[in-house]
Amino acid sequence: MKISRNFVYTLVVISLLVSAMANRTSADETVDNQADIAHLVSQLDFDAYKRDIEVLAGFGDREQGTQSYEKAAQWLAHRLSAAGYTVEYHEYRYWFLFPRANMYVTKIGTTSPDQMYIVSAHLDGRGGGGAADDDASGVAVVLEAALALAPEQIATDKSIRFVFWNSEESGADGSRAYMIERAGKRGEEHPRGSGRYPEPDWLGMIQHDMLLFDHGLPPRKMQIAEADLDIEYQADSDFSSDSKALAEAFLKGNQVYSTDYPAEIGDNMAKTDSWRFENMTAAISIRENRRMDEIGEGSNPHWHEPSDVPQTYSDADYRLGFNALQMTLGTIAELAGLQIVQPPEHDAEE
Ligand SMILES: [Zn+2]
Repeated sequence: MKISRNFVYTLVVISLLVSAMANRTSADETVDNQADIAHLVSQLDFDAYKRDIEVLAGFGDREQGTQSYEKAAQWLAHRLSAAGYTVEYHEYRYWFLFPRANMYVTKIGTTSPDQMYIVSAHLDGRGGGGAADDDASGVAVVLEAALALAPEQIATDKSIRFVFWNSEESGADGSRAYMIERAGKRGEEHPRGSGRYPEPDWLGMIQHDMLLFDHGLPPRKMQIAEADLDIEYQADSDFSSDSKALAEAFLKGNQVYSTDYPAEIGDNMAKTDSWRFENMTAAISIRENRRMDEIGEGSNPHWHEPSDVPQTYSDADYRLGFNALQMTLGTIAELAGLQIVQPPEHDAEE
């Protein structure tokens, strides 16, 4: 199964590249764009994804308000600013008292800077270990996707905001504060006439939370042969049809861009930051298993335990998270309308 998916993926990439080359001189933008996206996804580095999780978990538990959280946030901010992003903070008070902040960077859209997709994970974690799966595995997806889209020659028509939530473990309090404060500011130009949109309108919200461990239920020793990614939306929400359509776009992205693991759609998204957006915009969560009837029923024995550390997971586990990264980068690049604005140097010499 693994070999055949790899083989199919290779064929898709080759055929896209070949057709793009054949159409170089024609005005076939769509084909060019697909080949560029496939190339971008093919450059993702499995070891870099794994190393991010090791570093984040190495700070220890990242409970909100602790030093380990602050150190992890500083490390992330440094990685993002080194890639050229302006790091911003949404400040709020937890329980009306304790100062906290969500952190984000934005890839500003070239033709629609006033509209954005939110791609997110929660930086806080608990359990007494390193919160490697919950949720360094999601943070590393958001970080690597942001870094892949950072270079100036990569443009997107629409904006993409990469958000690292705080206070998720206490009940999605960071995303709740953001949603309440920012919902009324969507699409506003500020200052007027500046062409700047501090809070672009929301096109969709994609949350990543626990991406490594699909050992079945009850859990077995190794990643199971049927392991897959679960893309969940909430059927009982105001935006259920838009959310389902967004989930379907990601499922299709999985089929094109993920090299090893398939995905499936579930309709009971719950208990993660995307939940705060389900009645405001299209909202999905991407996970190793369904939240309610799998994770909630014991599919991951390391969840919120001291054993949620990097060495608990095998490369087969890490590869599930890496497949989520491939899916998210490829799909969001399609949805936001990726364009290469400068040809690479070796093309320019021709
Ligand atoms: Zn989580």
